Amino acid sequence: MNNSNLRPRLRLLATGGTIAGAQTSGDGRGYTAGAFSIADLVAAVPQIAALAELTVEQVARIGSQDMNEGVWRQLAGRAQAALDDPGIAGVVITHGTDTMEETGYFLNLVLKTAKPVVLVGAMRPATAISADGPMNLYNAVAVAAAPESAGRGVLVVANDEIHFAREVAKTNTTQVGTFKSPNRGLAGLIHSGRLHYFGPTVRRHTAASEFAPLAAGGLPRVDIVYAHAGMGRELIDAAVSAGARGVVIAGVGDGNMPAAALAACTAAARAGVAVVRSSRTGGGLVERNIEVDDDAAGFVSAEELNPQKARVLLMLGLGRTREAGALQELFRVY
Ligand code: ASP
Repeated sequence: MNNSNLRPRLRLLATGGTIAGAQTSGDGRGYTAGAFSIADLVAAVPQIAALAELTVEQVARIGSQDMNEGVWRQLAGRAQAALDDPGIAGVVITHGTDTMEETGYFLNLVLKTAKPVVLVGAMRPATAISADGPMNLYNAVAVAAAPESAGRGVLVVANDEIHFAREVAKTNTTQVGTFKSPNRGLAGLIHSGRLHYFGPTVRRHTAASEFAPLAAGGLPRVDIVYAHAGMGRELIDAAVSAGARGVVIAGVGDGNMPAAALAACTAAARAGVAVVRSSRTGGGLVERNIEVDDDAAGFVSAEELNPQKARVLLMLGLGRTREAGALQELFRVY
């Protein structure tokens, strides 16, 4: 692949994030995400040219805390257009780390492709001592350029690790090893551009997803409500009053919540709002009917999806059905 005539052609879509961040304060801690253009980032890693021929496109220039449905739609559209081009072998997306897991899982469900799609970010801004962005970007390009990355769904590359977008979560506020895949583990490892895959992803994605390609029209409102000791019902009622078609509870432990919150969720489900129980613990599986009678209340369990990913699947799923049993099936399949 190092012969320039044989280099795969990749599309690089940029959205901003710390990987494109520039420090703003003398102590090196403050910075602005998305300050550098994608051309700047690529120019900083000339070794990439040996791996692939890149065409670049700046889709957005934001910190991913500002990621929203509008940018998701734009990004999905630009990625799908590139993937539909027979001359393009794969897509790399630079993205902030804060909501990368949500964007990655969304794209994993809505892109109709078997080609590699790789999200990459960094924890340190581009101007920091020992910035992690350049190596992460190099590795991401290597993953997207590799034929063995095809058919694995959307991937996230950082810190010499390859994660499945469905599994990955940001688990640390500042450290470069922030990404973990707590339940099913890593997709593989990558060291200076050399890949080692451990196994395939097991859930349905991309080419086989019923949500791909992304349909036109807005996604319904789905809110996440965080459970805690002493939680009342007010925030659940407020979500319903604000027009939520779905509520994801970031439950304590195994997706549990205090009695007052349970009563509010039961009332919401009776009123036709989809209620999904997930967990705030960061790992494990929320099963049906353990301490909560999901059958009687009409709830859905998020299984392994964390609250933010459960929200993504619920928004897409509500475009298909509002029936709890059918929604539960989506959480088993995706
Ligand atoms: N706030 C930044 C973002 O998500 C953090 C990062 O990229 O690491 O865009």
